[in-house]
Amino acid sequence: MKINRREFVKLSGVLGVGLAITELGFDVKKIKASTKEFKLEDSKEFTSVCTFCSVGCGMICHVKDEKLINLEGDPDHVINEGSLCSKGASMSVVPNSDQRVKTPLYRAPGSDKWQEISWDEAIDKVTKKMKEVRDENWITKDSEDGKDYPANRTEAISIVGGAQNNNEECYLLAKMARALGVTYIEHQARL
Ligand code: SF4
Repeated sequence: MKINRREFVKLSGVLGVGLAITELGFDVKKIKASTKEFKLEDSKEFTSVCTFCSVGCGMICHVKDEKLINLEGDPDHVINEGSLCSKGASMSVVPNSDQRVKTPLYRAPGSDKWQEISWDEAIDKVTKKMKEVRDENWITKDSEDGKDYPANRTEAISIVGGAQNNNEECYLLAKMARALGVTYIEHQARL
């Protein structure tokens, strides 16, 4: 029987001694059929990235009935190779917390209350505001020694990438920032 590294980790967590039995030639289907009560049985596996710091450790998450039931370091991840610090290991409590904010919150000018709004509404508000700020603070030229040079930028907006953004997302974010004329571009991992 061929088994990859991830399946090995999953099976060793689920089956324990059962895996050793499997390696001895027993039918894995029969063993799996008798392990329904085990924690990871019927769960969906996803990979994710720790949100807490700029190291960006990789994680394997198991979800069942819309709840995160298991989280561990990803042994195949190039950065952490399966390890997590205590902060990263404690991230398992975040997704299932009843205090988790799941929708955008908006506080109207002058109001002291936050109200829930939809993602479409939030994106609409942010894009309109960005356009407004960009247009009001557009710098068309720089002048030096009596000469004008084209500039076409805004210094009123800055864009910061986060630890969870992967290379491709950062590439797109930087492209978008430059297309908008934003010059203040940073990333959490550099701070
Ligand atoms: S597991 Fe620890 S070191 Fe890794 S990204 Fe999370 S907080 Fe940083």
